[in-house]
Amino acid sequence: MRIFDTHCHLDFAAFDDDRAQVIAAAQDLGVERFMLLGVAKQQFDRLINVSQDFSNSCYFSLGLHPYFIEQHEEHHLGALESYLEAILADTQTRCKAVGEIGLDVTCGKPELQQTLFKGQLKIAAEYQLPVILHHRKTLDELLKAVREASIQRGVVHAFSGSYEQAAAWADQGFKLGVGGTITYQRAKKTRDAISRIGAEHLVLETDAPDMPLCGYQGQRNEPKRVLEVLNSLSELLQTETNELADVLWKNSVELFN
Ligand SMILES: [Zn+2]
Repeated sequence: MRIFDTHCHLDFAAFDDDRAQVIAAAQDLGVERFMLLGVAKQQFDRLINVSQDFSNSCYFSLGLHPYFIEQHEEHHLGALESYLEAILADTQTRCKAVGEIGLDVTCGKPELQQTLFKGQLKIAAEYQLPVILHHRKTLDELLKAVREASIQRGVVHAFSGSYEQAAAWADQGFKLGVGGTITYQRAKKTRDAISRIGAEHLVLETDAPDMPLCGYQGQRNEPKRVLEVLNSLSELLQTETNELADVLWKNSVELFN
């Protein structure tokens, strides 16, 4: 069984003391690959270094995350493009997407968010990269922008929404990121949407160190717990775990080429 944690922030300071052990603990359980996310220009070098330190398992994306809006400036779009241009010149590059990007109603500076988000969609289209999307009460707005930018490959990170929304994203060619949320029985709408849309439209993720699973509230989340997400999903979809893991692995690898 091979597992891809398609969304984890292993470069964050929360893992500074035991990053190698955290990665090894996940690998012991079959979590072979990790996608690390760009969040701000000031973090790119560190992110690239961490993914280089663990080059047998870590891939990365570059992007300007709405959570860090206070750190972003409009000219960081140009910086992102320069990074991508340099990095993608290497055919062995482990940079596989533009992300984590999106719109978040709780983060402020809505105009700058819009400029950065749309600018990054344009860059992703230009470099033919998938996008990794962050949303908060912005799912439909994101879909409209993605359609306008003609982007047909990406992940809706931490999908939470209705079946109709899930189906619209699947139609656009996007995968839905399934993480700790589905381990909470109360997340009825999301669990229902994910069970109806089917495994071929899903990928696994943890968002570690954030988004703890049910039973681990208040603790640092870790990529090894993606196994528990897989088990919950296997129950929800009533599909055998190994068979499901194969489909999700294939989805992830295809998505990130
Ligand atoms: Zn994230």
